[in-house]
Order: sequence, then C-alpha cells, then structure tokens
Amino acid sequence: MQNVDYIIRADYLLTMEGDLSVIRDGAVAVTGSDIIDAGVFPGISKKYTSSNISEGKGRVVFPGLINTHTHAAMVYFRGLADDLPLMDWLQDHIWPAEGKWMNEDFVGDAVELACLEMLKAGVTAYSDMYFFQNTAGKKLEKIGMRGVLGAGIIDFPFTGYAKSADDYFINAENLINNWKDSELVSPCVAPHATYTCGPDSYKRANAISEKYNVPIHTHLAETQFEVAECRNRYGKTPVEYFESIGMLTERLSAAHCVWLTDNEVGLLAKRRVGVAHCIESNLKLASGFAPVAKMLKAGVKVAFGTDGAASNNDLSVLGEMSTAAKVHKAVSGDPTVVDSRTTLLMATKNGAEILGLGDKVGSIRPGKKADLVIADLSKPHLTPLYDIYSHITYCLRPSDIETVMVNGKVVVENGRLTTMDEEEILEKARQWQEKIKA
Ligand SMILES: [Zn+2]
Repeated sequence: MQNVDYIIRADYLLTMEGDLSVIRDGAVAVTGSDIIDAGVFPGISKKYTSSNISEGKGRVVFPGLINTHTHAAMVYFRGLADDLPLMDWLQDHIWPAEGKWMNEDFVGDAVELACLEMLKAGVTAYSDMYFFQNTAGKKLEKIGMRGVLGAGIIDFPFTGYAKSADDYFINAENLINNWKDSELVSPCVAPHATYTCGPDSYKRANAISEKYNVPIHTHLAETQFEVAECRNRYGKTPVEYFESIGMLTERLSAAHCVWLTDNEVGLLAKRRVGVAHCIESNLKLASGFAPVAKMLKAGVKVAFGTDGAASNNDLSVLGEMSTAAKVHKAVSGDPTVVDSRTTLLMATKNGAEILGLGDKVGSIRPGKKADLVIADLSKPHLTPLYDIYSHITYCLRPSDIETVMVNGKVVVENGRLTTMDEEEILEKARQWQEKIKA
C-alpha cells in the first residue's frame, strides 16, 4: 500500500482521456503536485492509503477548465461600457480608461479578483494578454492559479509601461527570463492585433517565441472591420496575411477567428494553430459567429476563451461551453454539432494543448499535474441525471463548484478560496470602482 496526500473519490470521474468513457465510483490519487493514479475507487483503495479521502457521493470530478483567452485585469472595467460595437467600445471607452488607470497597482489588484472569480468557477488555468505581467505572476503564485501570461505588444507607447515600441520587446524578454522555470506561471509573447501591430512587430514577436520556445498569442480575424483593414494594408485576409509573414505555427494561439474563408480554415488546420473561441464576447460586440463546427471538422484545435470581463461580462468557461453548444447548432442548422463531450474536451484537453501545457494538465492521468475540479450534483437543476457530460455543458453553474485543486494544492474548499481573504479582494475592487467612477 502506498500512502498518498489525497484520494479524491466521486460518483462520476471524467478523465478526458481515450474514448471519454465515464468512470462510475471513480477516484484520483494525488501526491505533491502530481496525479499518481486514477480509476475505479475499489481498485484505487486497494493500492493507496491516505488521511484525506474525500466523500464522493453526488459528486463529479473532472480536469480544471482552461480559459485560453482573456485580459484578466480588465475585470475592473466589468460593465463600464456595454452595448457598443468593438471599435467604438475600444476607442471611446476602454482605451481611455486603460490610459488613465492601468498601472502596476491596478493590474496586481485586479488580477486577484479575476483569479478569485475563475477559481471559484472551476477554471484552473488561463492565458492572458496584458501588461505588467511580472506583477500578475506574483499574484498567481500567491493565490495558487496556473497562467500563461502574455506580454502585450502594440506599435505605440503606453505611459508607465513602454516608452517606445522597443520597450515592449524588452519587457517580453524580461518576463520570459523571470518566469521560465516557474511551476505555475508560463511566459508568452502577445502582439495585440493586425490593426495595432505591423508586420515587423509580428516577425519580431515570432522570433522571440521561437528563440525561447514559448507560445505566441494574438487576436485574429475578430471583426469585419479588421478583415477590411487587413485587405487595405496588405492585400490579404488576416490568416492569409499571417501565412505570408510566417506567423502560422503550432506555437500560435489565435483568439476569435470569426471571419475565415474555407482556405483560411484549411491553413489553420495544416499549420496546427490553436484557436481560442470567445463566443460570448463575439455575441456581445456583434462581431459575428466563428465557424467552429467547420473548424473542428477540418481538424483545427479549438478551445474556449472568455475574453476580458469588459466584453463578456464574466470569466466563466462553463458559460462559454453552454452558449457555444447552443449557438453553433442554431447557426449551422445542425443540432448534432458541438455536442457536450466535445465542449468539455475543448474546455480541458484542447485548451491545455493550444497553450503548450498538454503534457502537464488538461486531463486526468498518472504523471500530469493535479488540476482538478469537484462539483456538487445534488441540486434541483442537476436532477435527474442521465448523462453527466450533458449536465456539465447545459446545466452546471459556477456556484456548483465545491473544491478546486491546482498543482496538488486545494485552493477552493466548500466553494471558498483558501489561499487569500475573499472579502479583502472584493473590498479592494469596490475601492477601485469608486475611483474609476469618479
Ligand atoms: Zn481579447
């Protein structure tokens, strides 16, 4: 008998490995940061002992959800400006607010709120594009969340962060050097979009990504405005333009990919580019419907992103799953597409793979890191239960998440954050709200 730190038992265990079959009365053995074993409880309990064996009745355990595109610190702009098209929303509201308020303190405080919201909603890792990511990284280590932190790059200066275009690249390389050996934080380069970064910036960001073998993260083909602008400047649609400057690689994760030609869908599949599908942001800004069913059929790796809370307005991956599963059926006229198994696969394994974390997280198997979610199924809206995958996609809410483990450490217990004071985080957010409102 081997002693382990935790034996996590549950009526339903979804490993997201192999044929996605459901393990009834399952258990996961965890020691240190690692998953040691997973399978049926009677088998696990014959091989392992632990002083922490969780009660599994009425519970499901599945891999931590992954948010593949957000701007975490923008939670402080949640609900600041709504019901506007993307460019008006950006130019008249978000960019001025960022220009006025965004600094190291803002990012540090706001990231705490974003992590609190995501962890309590079963999101154990996120991919971010923003500024002051060294500060964000320190907060992630404190709160116990996993993140791929992208150093934002744009072609014009940003007071307090970058005096010149060069500064963005210096900041990006510093970020990579600071965090390349961290357990929880992975650095990344994040040029913003084709309308804020020229080809030289993209090529330079791509060279850094290749040199250090870190992911590169950008917005791509989000709106018709962007496609028209790209055609104007470069005579090509966004994905074809990226192909022409050597940007399409397995290291790239592209957020949105709403406006794609069939040729572009084929290019994304061929070059193994990851796509962060942000359906609620696309709906709210009326950006359009990404051809997700078509991309999945073509073999493109698609995962979920919430985008920033200013355009969503929450950071719930469960919300994205439910919305996407329904909208793509309506849009394609086919009720069989984006089914509930596919959505959970997109939210876990696909998400990990497109962020370059596929060997570490995204599924439950021996050797992977223990990023796990336990949800309570004993609720009216989850009863009766015929298909656990269906319930996770169509019925499960963030408030049903009971326990969350990241890297083998319990960070949410009975729905409460264990690593920091929740009330302090909320109070700080309310103080910022008063300042920003004034
Ligand atoms: Zn975004």
